[in-house]
Amino acid sequence: MKYLKYNTSFYILIMLPFLWSCNQKTQWEGQKPVSKVNTQTVPIQLQHKGVFDLGKGVFASNEFDGARLNGVARTNDTLITVLLTPENEPINMSPWFAFKLWSEIESEIFVKLTYPENASHRYYPKLSFDGLSWKTLDSANYQISRTTEIESMQIPKEIIMKLSINPDTLWVAAQELITSTHVENWISKLLTNTYVTKTKIGESHKGKPINLLKIGESDDQKMIFILSRQHPPEVTGYLAMKAFVETICSDNEIAKNFRKKYNTYVVPLANPDGVDNGHWRHNYGGVDLNRDWADFNQPETSAIRDFMKQKTANTSGKFYFAVDFHSTWQDIYYTISPELKGNMPGLVSDMITATGNEFTDYEPNIKPSDDLDTRITSTKFFFYEFGAESLTFEIGDNTPREFVKKKGGVSALKLMELLLE
Ligand SMILES: [Zn+2]
Repeated sequence: MKYLKYNTSFYILIMLPFLWSCNQKTQWEGQKPVSKVNTQTVPIQLQHKGVFDLGKGVFASNEFDGARLNGVARTNDTLITVLLTPENEPINMSPWFAFKLWSEIESEIFVKLTYPENASHRYYPKLSFDGLSWKTLDSANYQISRTTEIESMQIPKEIIMKLSINPDTLWVAAQELITSTHVENWISKLLTNTYVTKTKIGESHKGKPINLLKIGESDDQKMIFILSRQHPPEVTGYLAMKAFVETICSDNEIAKNFRKKYNTYVVPLANPDGVDNGHWRHNYGGVDLNRDWADFNQPETSAIRDFMKQKTANTSGKFYFAVDFHSTWQDIYYTISPELKGNMPGLVSDMITATGNEFTDYEPNIKPSDDLDTRITSTKFFFYEFGAESLTFEIGDNTPREFVKKKGGVSALKLMELLLE
């Protein structure tokens, strides 16, 4: 069979975010403003879970948390075709995939990823042999077999991976697999610090805990709030959040001082059902949680709202800062208009500037919203309800992971310095 070559136009397409981020004049403009949607629970489609015998001693599986593999079949001697579909529609395009492959004898196979008619391919495949350490697929083994035109750009519609498989399980996923178990393991490590505690503030649709971390030893008069993973595939945002939180927990003098004056509250995994069920975007109620911060029809958003409201009512303390971590095509900050004053005007822009100054050849991409925008997202709720200077902290899908970690850590350090001034 014939494949399209890994051609120059695709190379430009995937390089575009990097080219843009190097050049201030052509920075990405970000997503279009969000519009109001109904956030009442709707049915979702479940995957058929199992181990699939593909013949010739080759097997595939989606029997693990975070998996997404809606159909798989052998097309011919060398080609396996995978179908990936979302939990429900309409949905924003973040087509997650994660599955395992192995074979009785060492062999090379081609695996094609296919999507429904209105969806296209987005995430560059990652491979792992233990489900913990991941690397990106070698570009020599990656080919676009079909493209589709979206806004006059050619976007990959189907891709083919050449994979070496053997009796050891090969994990293939859209991004590094970080499920509720991984998050729990991370939380357990943080809990070895005396100044970190964990409480359950609610439950997801499926009864999984919505966990809240408290970091600090202050009297709750001054607080900050951190949120992550409303959208399951947004792993790079989660990685930045992780570095941000670890810096607040660190031995650094600024962090020690900060924890005496401010308490930090963190919900590291807002959508555990979506993450563990390999969803593209929604929770188990088929809803984009980051559109539910006005109506609160979903248990996950309601739990966080109730915690924040009770906390401010019971202590008369204030949230001075709130951040929600996400991932998108490339790094961008969605901020509240600087003309609108919360509990500490200028804090967010000062933090972004101070962070940017720590990196060479890096120009932060900032997109402020105006007062007329819909107030259905988390950061609008944090600002308009509590006066928290708030920020949607977006990391690109392909941003190098070392940079993600540094950026998360430096941002926390700069924030703490500014809050202590
Ligand atoms: Zn998101």
